[in-house]
Amino acid sequence: MGFVFDFSAGNKDQRDLLGGKGANLAEMTNLGLPVPPGFTITTEACRAYLQDGGDPDGLAEEVSAHLGALEEKMGRRLGEAADPLLVSVRSGAKFSMPGMMETVLNIGLNDESVAGLAAQSDDERFAQDSYRRLLQMFGATVLGIDGEHFAEALDDAKRSRGTDNDLDLDAEDLRGLVATFKKIVEEHTGRPFPQDPREQLDLAVRAVFDSWNTDRARLYRRQERIPEDLGTAVNIQAMVFGNFGMDSGSGVAFTRDPASGNQGEYGDYLQNAQGEDVVAGIRNTVSLADFGDVDRKSHDDLMAIMTRLERHYRDMCDIEFTVERGKLWMLQTRVGKRTPEAAFRIAVHMVDEGLIGLDEAVLRVSGAQLAQLMFPRFDESAERTLLAKGMNASPGAAVGKAVFDSDTAVAWAERGEDVVLVRKETNPDDLRGMVAAQGILTSRGGKTSHAAVVARGMGRTCVCGAESLDVDARAKEFRVRDGETVREGDVISIDGTTGEVFAGAVPVSASLIVRHFEGEKIDDDLVSAVSRIMAHADGARRLRVRANSDTPEDSARARRFGAQGIGLCRTEHMFLGDRRELVERLIVAEDEATQEQALAALLPLQRQDFAEIFEAMDGLPVTIRLIDPPLHEFLPDLTELSVKVALEEERGEGSERDRVLLQHVRRLHEQNPMLGLRGVRLGIQIPGLFEMQARAILEAAADYTAAGGRPLPEIMIPLVASVRELDVVKGTILGVAEEVQADRGVRLDFSVGTMIELPRAAFLADRIAGSADFFSFGTNDLTQMAWGFSRDDVEAAFFSRYFDHGIFDVSPFESLDQLGVGGMVEMGTTKGRATKPNLKVGVCGEHGGDPRSIHFFDDVGLDYVSCSPFRVPVARLEAGRSVL
Ligand code: PEP
Ligand code: MG
Repeated sequence: MGFVFDFSAGNKDQRDLLGGKGANLAEMTNLGLPVPPGFTITTEACRAYLQDGGDPDGLAEEVSAHLGALEEKMGRRLGEAADPLLVSVRSGAKFSMPGMMETVLNIGLNDESVAGLAAQSDDERFAQDSYRRLLQMFGATVLGIDGEHFAEALDDAKRSRGTDNDLDLDAEDLRGLVATFKKIVEEHTGRPFPQDPREQLDLAVRAVFDSWNTDRARLYRRQERIPEDLGTAVNIQAMVFGNFGMDSGSGVAFTRDPASGNQGEYGDYLQNAQGEDVVAGIRNTVSLADFGDVDRKSHDDLMAIMTRLERHYRDMCDIEFTVERGKLWMLQTRVGKRTPEAAFRIAVHMVDEGLIGLDEAVLRVSGAQLAQLMFPRFDESAERTLLAKGMNASPGAAVGKAVFDSDTAVAWAERGEDVVLVRKETNPDDLRGMVAAQGILTSRGGKTSHAAVVARGMGRTCVCGAESLDVDARAKEFRVRDGETVREGDVISIDGTTGEVFAGAVPVSASLIVRHFEGEKIDDDLVSAVSRIMAHADGARRLRVRANSDTPEDSARARRFGAQGIGLCRTEHMFLGDRRELVERLIVAEDEATQEQALAALLPLQRQDFAEIFEAMDGLPVTIRLIDPPLHEFLPDLTELSVKVALEEERGEGSERDRVLLQHVRRLHEQNPMLGLRGVRLGIQIPGLFEMQARAILEAAADYTAAGGRPLPEIMIPLVASVRELDVVKGTILGVAEEVQADRGVRLDFSVGTMIELPRAAFLADRIAGSADFFSFGTNDLTQMAWGFSRDDVEAAFFSRYFDHGIFDVSPFESLDQLGVGGMVEMGTTKGRATKPNLKVGVCGEHGGDPRSIHFFDDVGLDYVSCSPFRVPVARLEAGRSVL
């Protein structure tokens, strides 16, 4: 197979080989649209060039053959002195990388052919202008000379003319500029500008190949998750000239508005200009409508072609075109980028226009776009002062007074003030403050730090790891790198979508889509587009979607958002605030009687918690996980308490209570709490704790059943590694169930299952399934345990190097590591179902709300995903897209 293809030989589906631009030029050529002829050097040639560090064998000959054919077609030879053929050389990778790689126009001009061009066009000014453009582009992109040198010389020329418009430069000025540019080239490269047209062409092609590996191109690919090894194609095309005078020009257009998705004329046109001028903004462009007044015929031809392209591509297209002396030429088209809002509108409009079906419409939008539509946003036009940038941990826009501790957050919120909780990092005890705050800002920790996970769960805006901030909770202030200080009570704004932190209040607008999901009747075409697409996705999907929720409010909201149950109620969240003291009493109890007292005090509180959640989720399954985190999280900090006790003793006023407490804190202190006394191990160590929780769940269920409700509790045991662990705890739970049912005289519909969040559990899933009614994969811990990465530390510590080296392109805590952790999910499911074919299997780690991971969970046959309430609509949509 060859390395070079004529435009007439390809089609739009060959983006792998011809790049996006080449494939679409071929498609337009074959549609009979006015495309200047040319050919494409394939991405394969680029890959070979980059690998071997030189042109692959045979490339030069193939280029000669295609160039010969082009010259024949055009009746002119490249760079010929009397009447030169000129060509453009443009990059074009499979995925668009706007502005990242190189383009060189007017290849073929030299000191002789510039005169030929002047004679043929009868326009000396145009010929000199074209030559100076070649020198400028070639100098900067092929020869690597800083573009500033050319820009400065151009500015000087305009200045000495007393103008700031390049059109005021006449032929004489431009001839002078050409001489200056040639001097710049010689000075910087030590040799004159290459006069041989073929040498110009070959150097330009190599420069395009090389531009695949520039820093900015690499960075762009990393951000957009474009694979590194694709390479770019190179398009060589006969030049048409938009700078031929006022009856010529260049423009860009969209077949619909890429911002709103509405129909109409969207684009810009610039008279007497070549392509680069339009985007560079050197002169003011006119709208497409005004283009109609300048050149009616070209305008109408363009409109007709745009309609044809839309019907052909069945999608919104963007277009680059040139008018040369009143004739329209198409230089590029592709399916256009658009805002999330436009994506939903265009998809539904195209269904109504009969261009696509609803299945296709669902595939044309994404969960990420829906999520974007659900965030409140900062008003883009508003003024703002940037203080710092951290990680975009949980999206949205929050404005409030900076507060530095949870008590203040709660107190100020209670008196009706909006606050942003600012911490170095948060811990479970900050939950109250986080609930009370509009947003959370931390200076440490990554996207799965406590602050980030909890904030996402609550749909609270969060920026974490803003390391340039020096947070001093004691002084109640943070300092910004440039010396500015923000004190308690000062208003700040944080953007969880971009990670930016601003001084003062940036204006915010609420999301219509969230109001719609909340049940409000909203008459708006975007809302109706979203709701039609969601209805179709719901009808198509196999995977069920549940929510992670531990409060009745969140549960009710999750249900409104379409959750089909709760997949994870983390009960440890119910032991904070006032109840913490009861837990402390339980932990430090010296005898069984005291322990039982503490448990007895907790029982009614827990019962009430569950009763309210059952009510919110009447008729739907509610998976309640028994308490998981290490006990010492409920006790005072070891260092702080040690200092306090030491000071007290020094003053001779030490309290017995503090001394005893310190002993317990020391006893329970762990080097690696995540690998310590947590989950099922706690249940075995303090049996009364799980027993109390099971009783609270089952009594609440019994009461609600007696009241005519339909509770469906699923009791879940965390951190199980061995079937014996599960059996021990399950025995207790079943014993409690017997008692409760006998006592209350009701039969309960309940089940007892386990989390699979340790590698051992995944390996032994066939055994564990014998004792479990259901599995729920805890992919947060499973990722942590499989990689040996502490989920609280590693992201901020070293992940950026991992991204640099391409070890992974996204954090495995954010999007499932499908090969490794995913392999365990698949194996665990298969093994579990080998023992119990109807075993219900779900996932409740953060990955349950991540689009890529959702497709994976669907593919391996899970029954449901569970995610935070705000992700529920996203998961519904992605579960639909996964099967379509
Ligand atoms: C998990 O580990 O994936 C999980 C859901 O539990 P947690 O995040 O509470 O450890
Ligand atoms: Mg876990």
